[in-house]
Amino acid sequence: MTVSEASPPAPSAGPGEALVCLTGVQKHYGSLHVLRDIDLEVDRGEVIVVIGPSGAGKSTLCRAINRLETIDEGEIAIDGQPLPQEGKALARLRADVGMVFQSFNLFAHKTILENVTLGPIKVRKKSKADAEKRARELLDRVGVGHQADKYPAQLSGGQQQRVAIARALAMEPKVMLFDEPTSALDPEMIKEVLDVMVDLAERGMTMIVVTHEMGFARTAANRVVFMADGAIVEQADPETFFTNPESDRAKDFLSKIL
Ligand code: ADP
Ligand code: MG
Repeated sequence: MTVSEASPPAPSAGPGEALVCLTGVQKHYGSLHVLRDIDLEVDRGEVIVVIGPSGAGKSTLCRAINRLETIDEGEIAIDGQPLPQEGKALARLRADVGMVFQSFNLFAHKTILENVTLGPIKVRKKSKADAEKRARELLDRVGVGHQADKYPAQLSGGQQQRVAIARALAMEPKVMLFDEPTSALDPEMIKEVLDVMVDLAERGMTMIVVTHEMGFARTAANRVVFMADGAIVEQADPETFFTNPESDRAKDFLSKIL
């Protein structure tokens, strides 16, 4: 792969401007306050790990950034563009945000290759030939190139998740969101998925990763964001956070998972 292919998309936001910018974001489900005044800036090429107890609002945060959920107040901007509410502008902006979920969400009745080419052909308006060429490169990169003509059910969970990553990358996103991408996997498959994510981080992709995989956080993250009860409680570089957490909430959480 050439250097230019491996590089993240050319910047269009000005220097010093965060690629992902959340300001005063509030979200309720009925009387439940699930996102409390969230301010978060993620710079180009930065890798953020979001951790916190179940119900903290981590998935809601990811879904809000991808506009799978609306927010009640505040603003979310990607590359300097505020998230539009609907229509073509939203579809375009959403295509800039790649998302990988806990469940792999591949299309069961399409081949692996078709899973990866569908979005680029439909949304990015690529030719079938171009989309297939790029898809094969990406499938090779995540180590499942030889599975291109199979169907998702014929692959292991780890292989399916790597296809899901390739599918998201095929859209040439500016930022990748991962919501607990390894928590549905058998233990022996976790590493093969984390290795792909570490490689992506090393290639300069901007990433927001919800995970409790401390090894990944220590290897790849620039910053750990700890959430509880819908709020960002503290954030620090991984070494500082894991060895010297400040808040009682974080200390309590870490004592349970480490
Ligand atoms: P996390 O991913 O950190 O475990 P979530 O973002 O999934 O947390 O959920 C935050 C809170 O919002 C939880 O209390 C959850 O039960 C609630 N919640 C999530 N989705 C919905 C929904 N669609 N309707 C109502 N409540 C929801
Ligand atoms: Mg979640």
